[in-house]
Amino acid sequence: MLGSMQNWPLLCTKIIDHAALLHPHRTVTTRSVEGPIHTTTYAELRSRSLRVAKRLEKHGVKYGDRVATLAWNTWRHMEVWYGLLGLGAIYHTVNPRLFHDQIVWIVNDAEDRLLFVDLTFLPVIEKYIAEMPTLEQVIVLTDAEHMPATTLPNAVPYEEWLKDADDDFAWAEFDENTAAGLCYTSGTTGHPKGVLYSHRSNVIHAFQASQMDMFGCGSRDVIMPVVPMFHANCWSLAFTAPMVGAALVMPGAKLDGASVYEMLQIGKVTLTAAVPTVWQMLLGHMEAKKLKLDHLERVVIGGAACPRAMTEKFEKVYDVRVAHAWGMTETSPLGTICSIKPETAALDIEARLDLQVKQGVPPFGVEMKITDDRNVERPRDGRAFGRLKVRGPAIAGGYFKGMGKENFGEDGFFDTGDVATIDPNGYMQITDRAKDVIKSGGEWISTIDLENLAIAHPDVLEAAVIGVAHPKWDERPLLIIVPKPGRSPTREGILAYYEDKIAKWWMPDDVVFIEEIPHTATGKIQKMTLRDRFRGYVLPTA
Ligand code: ADP
Repeated sequence: MLGSMQNWPLLCTKIIDHAALLHPHRTVTTRSVEGPIHTTTYAELRSRSLRVAKRLEKHGVKYGDRVATLAWNTWRHMEVWYGLLGLGAIYHTVNPRLFHDQIVWIVNDAEDRLLFVDLTFLPVIEKYIAEMPTLEQVIVLTDAEHMPATTLPNAVPYEEWLKDADDDFAWAEFDENTAAGLCYTSGTTGHPKGVLYSHRSNVIHAFQASQMDMFGCGSRDVIMPVVPMFHANCWSLAFTAPMVGAALVMPGAKLDGASVYEMLQIGKVTLTAAVPTVWQMLLGHMEAKKLKLDHLERVVIGGAACPRAMTEKFEKVYDVRVAHAWGMTETSPLGTICSIKPETAALDIEARLDLQVKQGVPPFGVEMKITDDRNVERPRDGRAFGRLKVRGPAIAGGYFKGMGKENFGEDGFFDTGDVATIDPNGYMQITDRAKDVIKSGGEWISTIDLENLAIAHPDVLEAAVIGVAHPKWDERPLLIIVPKPGRSPTREGILAYYEDKIAKWWMPDDVVFIEEIPHTATGKIQKMTLRDRFRGYVLPTA
């Protein structure tokens, strides 16, 4: 027997309808790419999204078509997302930090028909356009006044393009499983793989994200996603904020410490989210200028491990709660957040900071397990390491065009490629990417643990640990350090700092100091590049 409740398809456009009706005056404030601060409201944003949909339809964009965006977080970028969603077309976010070959490859793989581009990236597109034959037109996210001369044949400024449509338009209706967005993972080996979100997965994921133990946000919040819309679906915030009626602050093109600080202050931001490197820049700026934060209450830190020292600084110096989050493009992206359960509520501050190094607990709808290489589940004792596998309604069931089939098991679980522990309270901790973990004499050493400790040293700006070949143990850890400006830490000093903090056999065999650690397009340490650079490095213990 079927239930007799209404069939109300979970469509993303219903989110902006809700925001425009119930929170019409809530603001969306952007540092525009042109420079000045721009303010709009959910009511206006919805009206302009309807115009975008009507204008796209006039161009001939249809249900299922892919349209690329190469753009920062701005109100215009959001309008383009919702306009496309309202036709059943697909927003394809292109990460501008990818290499030339990768950008060209993914636009061609997606067969994007149009490209919406910010002024910043126009020169890039002028260079690549000849290699992207599916693009019919480029729309530059600006007005006529700011439109530069361009070699692109039929490029138009967005505001002029939009003038051809009013908002007398009704969102298309279709099945909630219709594709909504496309985002490629950076793919350290092989071609990037596309993750194709659906309306249903985006809506469910936004419900999950807003829960008390996840972002815990509501209409009294002002949310600033510093995490770009092109990184892993903007961590849901382009959907979660309007769903709960929170105001939005969009940082635009400037993500340095001073600019982020300025937006946090003038926007009276209460909740923000980004990768650790962004917060490192902000903390550096605030420390140097002796600044404090007047409004910020919570910061979500994920995409790479959040070091204890960073959480400690936010909490103790700036009185800001840290929510350490784990996820990936394939998981929409939120998988876990390190929220405080009653079982851990009584911990003193130091023990709580230790706990917050963990990536945390999944919400309802993210099933999680760790297994050995034969898919046998490992114990949830906080000590056993295993491959982290997940399943749920907002987790990829396959990649675009059927790539990467080997990552999806017959039991419906997706193999994340991460190695993790899960403790008896359900807190998951990432110990490594499966390909980065160091196998020393058959035992595993977590590079993330060693990096987290190194970064707490007062002279260390950034740290990376890689495995280097060893004649007796197969692999041993090499610690690579970028010192803070003006500091000169020593090998002995750093190793002494590890004493009593780790098992003896985890102690790095050597320490090297370099000027810069290479990062990927999504802000992660490029371990492959480091491994190449230090291939053949002879450890003093070898
Ligand atoms: P990309 O794969 O495109 O670089 P993703 O954001 O999808 O970008 O990367 C997901 C991966 O990032 C995860 O599988 C995990 O290895 C890493 N990651 C994300 N959050 C954390 C975290 N809090 N701690 C450690 N690693 C993390």
